[in-house]
Amino acid sequence: MIYDYLVIRFGEITLKGKNKKDFVLKLENDVRAKLSRFTKLDVKRHFDDLEIHLNGEDAEPVIHVLTRIFGIQNISTAIKVENNLDAIRAGVLRVMGAEKDVHTFKIAARRKNKQFPVHGSELNQELGACVLKNCEGVSVDVHHPDLTVRVEVGYHETRIYGHEYDGAGGLPVGSSGKVLLLLSGGIDSPVAGYLLAKRGATVDAIHFQSPPYTSDRARQKVIDLAGKIESFGGTVRIHIVPFTKAQLAIRDQIPEDYRVTIMRRLMFRIAEKEAQRTGALALATGESLGQVASQTMESMNTINQVTNLPILRPLITMDKIEIARLAKKIDTYDISIRPYEDCCTIFLPKAPRTRPDRIHAARFERALDIDALVDEAVRGIVVQTAADENQKDTFNQLL
Ligand code: ATP
Ligand code: MG
Repeated sequence: MIYDYLVIRFGEITLKGKNKKDFVLKLENDVRAKLSRFTKLDVKRHFDDLEIHLNGEDAEPVIHVLTRIFGIQNISTAIKVENNLDAIRAGVLRVMGAEKDVHTFKIAARRKNKQFPVHGSELNQELGACVLKNCEGVSVDVHHPDLTVRVEVGYHETRIYGHEYDGAGGLPVGSSGKVLLLLSGGIDSPVAGYLLAKRGATVDAIHFQSPPYTSDRARQKVIDLAGKIESFGGTVRIHIVPFTKAQLAIRDQIPEDYRVTIMRRLMFRIAEKEAQRTGALALATGESLGQVASQTMESMNTINQVTNLPILRPLITMDKIEIARLAKKIDTYDISIRPYEDCCTIFLPKAPRTRPDRIHAARFERALDIDALVDEAVRGIVVQTAADENQKDTFNQLL
């Protein structure tokens, strides 16, 4: 592509009034960080957009990275030319030549600078005629063109835009506070993490493992999943909880049909403590209403009782098929379907109670020393990132 630069438009952050400046600065930082490997680029911030000057860099890989950054509504390729009709004509032809597979087009010209002698509608006609004369095999389609060439005559120069790419939408990561996501190795919870990051949350993950009943492969899976969420957002710190002792106590002391309920209540208590320790203001899960026994309204009611923190459930109304589709889109699906043993699946009954209630749950829990189990698990938590793990691998290979 022969474009000079890319224009990034913000979308929803433009609605944020006073906070707009903070949002835009966050987005600019994200963009700079994610593009740091492209050394030729320059990023410039304006009131309503960011400009990425390509300085000879190929636009395509840069656009690919930008489409995964939250807070970006769309990205256009663009060039700048002088404010005179000849230069604008040549510019439009350059843009037409740069785009592939264009059979139909439309010119959308706008004159911000009223001193410019040619009106918008005249410009449309003038430039459209020029394209028809110079480009073979193309025709005008004002309703559904393959390419709309936008022309914006400014005060000092004219911007001409090529193709517009959809951004990931949402809000810049880190603009909505921190959430602690209960991340299993399943299909659902990573999708929940993606959706939270999309709304600007900083996502930390908490994972419960029960060695030796759960293997290192299960742990690696969760680290890989966190890495995928990270590719959209900021760093995802993974809090790994030793959960074996609690699970054995549940197996030995709790009636079979309440084991899932009690296990979840313990998970939430532990997660709440860890959230408080690390500044997360909410917990989150990958639950979807009625999907399994522990995700009925009654179950959620009974499980929620143990914490006052908000519990965000971004998938609550989604069907499994929709969730799987999203998981494929964000590249977590193939990791999630690797075989593994989750701490939830070992020890647990085939037929858990679908309508557990708070009174029974609290009564059964008296058989356990809840505080001691929670404290011990919290004390044993190890925090790491996907990057730490990869470094460890490199280190081991060197030995
Ligand atoms: P997922 O695909 O996310 O595992 P699921 O449909 O298998 O979900 P469950 O196994 O009932 O459902 O788990 C419900 C939620 O509880 C998960 O979405 C996740 O947020 C949390 N969870 C389950 N197991 C663990 C675990 N080992 N560590 C952390 N969170 C977990
Ligand atoms: Mg699961």
